[in-house]
This record gives sequence, structure tokens and C-alpha cells, in this order.
Amino acid sequence: MECGMRFLPLLWLHGLLAFSAVADPDAIYRALYSERNWDELEAFQGTASRSFFEEAMDRTYAPIVDWRSWMQVEADGVWIEKGEALGGERLFLRFAGEEQKDREELEVPRGFVGLRIVLDPGHIGGEWGPVEERSFKIGDGPLVQEGDLTLAIAQRLADRLRALGAEVLLTRESAVPTTGLRVEDFLGEAKARLGEGDERLQALAERLFYRTAEIRARADRIEDWGGADLALAIHLNASGFSDPENPELHEANDAHVLINGCYLEGELASPDQRLELLLRLFKGYHLQEERVGSALVESIREHTGLPAYLYESGNAHPLDDWGYLWARNLLASRIFDCPVVYLEPWQANSAPVYEWAAAGDYEGLREFDGQLKPSLPSLYCDFVLAGLSKSFPMPE
Ligand SMILES: [Zn+2]
Repeated sequence: MECGMRFLPLLWLHGLLAFSAVADPDAIYRALYSERNWDELEAFQGTASRSFFEEAMDRTYAPIVDWRSWMQVEADGVWIEKGEALGGERLFLRFAGEEQKDREELEVPRGFVGLRIVLDPGHIGGEWGPVEERSFKIGDGPLVQEGDLTLAIAQRLADRLRALGAEVLLTRESAVPTTGLRVEDFLGEAKARLGEGDERLQALAERLFYRTAEIRARADRIEDWGGADLALAIHLNASGFSDPENPELHEANDAHVLINGCYLEGELASPDQRLELLLRLFKGYHLQEERVGSALVESIREHTGLPAYLYESGNAHPLDDWGYLWARNLLASRIFDCPVVYLEPWQANSAPVYEWAAAGDYEGLREFDGQLKPSLPSLYCDFVLAGLSKSFPMPE
């Protein structure tokens, strides 16, 4: 009895400390690193044909690097390197016969009723806009933050999709991070990577927070929800300012759509990323993504008339003839465990878009440059719904 009484205040004290001090190291580790296990691939023994595998790697996942050193294809299966260097432990995955190829054509969900859609409003917005470098204004003009616009779009879209019978999850419902961790929780990791006293510590801790930990928390939310038929990552494009201290609008304005793929040399060499790639491939996510992505490209072109965006950085690969649909390896499109399509219409800092984007969501029409326009979120929803209607046609 006496003994127990003595321990109680200590436990309370421990509880208080846990709230005020830096988060538990396990939580920080889980926010930064994959917990995937190579055993997960065993479920796909004998499920995919050789041509399915090779086409997926050549066309979508690794069109510009030599992936065959990491994955040695034989007639009846593929030897997959599991480690960080070539020549280590390998796993053999058996192919199915080529007759399997037809079955690998898609099972397409029909109509919106019961369709499970995740809407991921890109970035965080609100007070986090400047930290995540998604916040700007021109002179005394209005503030535009990508994270605020994407939330307005996702909320409007969720209402419309639910009215059609879809089940919808938003990865965030406000301008509050989905992760419970904050920048200061990642200063230790930043010091471990860069060394004490490095001038880039704060910037790295911020990136680990708003990019890595936040995206992983959203992936967890999707998993807790029980998975989805599709996730739409909602974004707007923007170009870097030539002088960030005195931002000026530019004329370029365009659109593109991204699906997971185009792994680079260093990404394939990462065992975590190699495993994540393979799980997406064997689940056939790239087929759904290209199908839905193509339909969304078509509806973006019809509804906005925007020209295609051209990647010049070498980290993306075009999948269509027009250059609207690209494969690129982003964290969200790699770790959200469902087909993911990333939308990047309009450049928020282009002259024809800025004032209109700054107006946010509104009902009806407003005049910009002598032209009456529905709100940007409203037009965004129109083309998404048109593209999804084509992707998931109603049953006959
Ligand atoms: Zn974005």
C-alpha cells in the first residue's frame, strides 16, 4: 500500500513530461521510416505474368534507369535484391503463365455508389503555409496559400461525391497537420544527419515534419480507414520566383497529372523504395492510375484549355502523347496504399490565375479581367467529376 502510494506521483510526473517534452523516439522513427517487410511480397507468388512485370517496369516504374541489375528476370520468375548493395540476399518471385495476362486486365469499379475515394488536400495551409513554402502574395495583393485552396476544393468535392453515393475520406479536414508531431520533434534527427551546428538544421527538421511525417500520417489515416479504390492528391502548380524577396507574376500557366513511377537510380537502390514499388506493381495500382489519370487529363483539357506542363528536371517521364500525364516518384504516391492520382492544374502565381485563386471558393460567378468565372474550387470539382464519371461509368 505504502509502496504504491509512493509511485503514483512519479507516474503523474512522467505523464506530464511526455506531453511537454519531445515525442517518444518510436513515434519519431515511425514517422520517418517505412515499416514494410519483404515477406509481404510472398502473397504475390505466381500472381503476375512475366510480360505484365516487364511492361510495368519498362513503361511506368523504371523507364529511364537500368532496373534489371536489381531484379534479374528469368523465364519462370524474378530474383529480387533485398539489400542496399547488389549481390546480397535475394528473393525469388514466381511468375504466373502468360494466359494470366488477360485476367490482369482491370477490374473496374462501376458507378459512384460505394466507391471509396480518398481526397488528399495537398499541404497544410493556415499558419503552416510559410513553413511549407506554399504561401505568397504579390506586393500589397492578397495572400494565396496552396494548402488553403486545396482544402476548399476537397471539401466541395467531398460533398458532391457523397451526394452521388461515394464514400469519401479527407486526409485532413482543416489547416491543422494530420501528424501529432511538430518541427522541434525532428531537430534530433536533423542533427544526426547533418551534425550539430549545421546551418541547415532548422530547414531539414521543417521538411521532415511537413513533408515526411505529415505524408506518413496521412498514409496511416488511409490504412485505418480500410483502404480505398482511389486517392486523389489535390494540388495546384506554381513556378519558382526569380526573386523570392520581390515575387512577380509570370505568364506561364499549365496543367499536368502524375502517377507513381519513374524511379531514379538512388531510389531503386533504396530497399524500402524498391519494396514499395514492387508492392504497387503486383497490386496493379499503375493500371488503375494510368486509366483514371488519362480520363482526368482529358477532362482537364476540356474544362480548362490549359497547355501541358513540361518537366525539364529529368525526374519524371511522360506517359501520354500530349505530355499531360507523367510518372514521378513522390512520397504520397508511393506510400498511400491504393491507386493515387496527383492533380496539378494551373500555376497559382501566373497572371491569369492569381486574383482568381486568391478569391478562394464562392458561389455563382465573379468577374476577373472582364470575364465572369465560377470559383477555382468549383471549376476544379467539375473537371474531377467529369473525369471520374468516365473512369467509373455507371452500370448499364
Ligand atoms: Zn502542391
